[in-house]
Amino acid sequence: MLDKKNFYIDGQWVNSKSSQEIKVINPANEQECAVISLGNKDDVNSAVAAAKKAYSSWSFSTKEQRLELLEKLYENYKKRWNDIAEAITLEMGAPKDFATQLQAGTGASHIKSFIRYLKNFEFEKPLGDHAPNQRLIYEPKGVCALITPWNWPMNQVCLKVIPALASGCTMILKPSELAPLSSMILAEIIDEVKFPAGVFNLVNGDGATTGDALTSHPDVNMISFTGSTRAGALISQNAAKDFKRVSLELGGKGANIIFKDADPEAIERGALRCFRNSGQSCNAPTRMLVEKSIYNEAIERLKKYTEEFKVDDPTKEGDHIGPVISEVQYNKIQTLIQKGIDEGAKLVAGGVGKPSGLDKGYYVKPTVFADVNNNMEIAKTEIFGPVLSVIPFETEEEAIQIANDTPYGLTNYIQTQDPEKVKRVARKLRSGMVDVNGAGIAVDAPFGGFKHSGIGREAGEHGLEEFLEVKAVGGWS
Ligand code: NAD
Repeated sequence: MLDKKNFYIDGQWVNSKSSQEIKVINPANEQECAVISLGNKDDVNSAVAAAKKAYSSWSFSTKEQRLELLEKLYENYKKRWNDIAEAITLEMGAPKDFATQLQAGTGASHIKSFIRYLKNFEFEKPLGDHAPNQRLIYEPKGVCALITPWNWPMNQVCLKVIPALASGCTMILKPSELAPLSSMILAEIIDEVKFPAGVFNLVNGDGATTGDALTSHPDVNMISFTGSTRAGALISQNAAKDFKRVSLELGGKGANIIFKDADPEAIERGALRCFRNSGQSCNAPTRMLVEKSIYNEAIERLKKYTEEFKVDDPTKEGDHIGPVISEVQYNKIQTLIQKGIDEGAKLVAGGVGKPSGLDKGYYVKPTVFADVNNNMEIAKTEIFGPVLSVIPFETEEEAIQIANDTPYGLTNYIQTQDPEKVKRVARKLRSGMVDVNGAGIAVDAPFGGFKHSGIGREAGEHGLEEFLEVKAVGGWS
């Protein structure tokens, strides 16, 4: 079992002040694979004090100084790429190839992309040609608490740590207690690169103790959080007390609207996007809305595709999916699948229980329900497992109404060959992102949601600006 009990505070690996520990469980075999410390208030106080001290000089570092360090960080990340991928497989069960190419890969893509935006970002500029003496100054927001979940660990951590570093903020990262190992490798990389002491700090722990201590700390100026809508609401309450800046990336219940003129691969592509990462993606298209005239054919195809879909050990190479993160998550998914059956949705493939031959580990059968309506629990709740709900529709207006009939608004999907229909529907969908015909959303496009899916945007230039306050100075000469 790996001993990962130290924290990274003020430029050094230090012992935790707490004696409480958390065991990290490998979801593929239910065995303990590492032990971390559960940071208490004293640990959080040390980390925040280090970040506050470092802010006074780091916030005035030049763009060139920050670029030089970030470029070294990118080089060192590439050298540790396989270690990061292996840690992700161990901590959250992403299969080897997926962990290497996508999970570790998105981290690298974000580092590269933020370097590009930092190079071009103007931290001081005139308001406009009409007002040359009016100056805008973009300043780092201050000490940031960065709190991340387990489902895309390096993606989410790099979406926060890299723009915070690039903007001149200082930070305390608290990764998910379920998947902290890849973040600890990133901390090793940051240590090797030699960012000034206190600029980056890492404290492990759970939400109720460590997360709460961080988000209620008076010297924290900004909270960037990705996780559940439940925790997002609690964090916002803490932040409101002293007007901390808050950026929230929360849940989703994306609709994938398949019109009758969709390209032939749209059905299988939609199921794959739902099942990928074992269904543990906030932007997964978990409600497939299918036009009535192709509905029966779509269900037939989904049945065949899902029955052949592979679930297996994540240490193996291949394009299968692995287990879900934990026993708690496994049980939640099982309860929701049973709820779908009880509410009268038609089980097309999968169902409760584990896939055959995978008795140990939190493996879930890829599952498809047909004849779902938007009032059923499986259509309303973010299941966070490989479970697809198929809902029929007759008209474009009805499809838009069903898609928008959810408290969430993260990503919706459209499948049609009609470009005018794409424009009409995309304009009416209430979500931060709309993915058309499998094009994907660019790595540097603003990532974030409407409604209960969050506040703010990550990635690219928008993601950098989240960490900056704008100051207006009149009378600049
Ligand atoms: P979670 O909210 O339980 O935990 C996320 C992080 O927040 C963890 O580090 C946890 O320790 C911490 N936390 C929990 N309660 C806290 C509190 N009261 N105060 C401070 N910190 C607290 O979520 P999870 O189960 O780890 O992740 C799954 C959820 O994350 C899903 O709902 C998913 O949709 C969402 N998610 C959203 C995005 C996005 O970008 N929109 C991306 C990934 C995941």
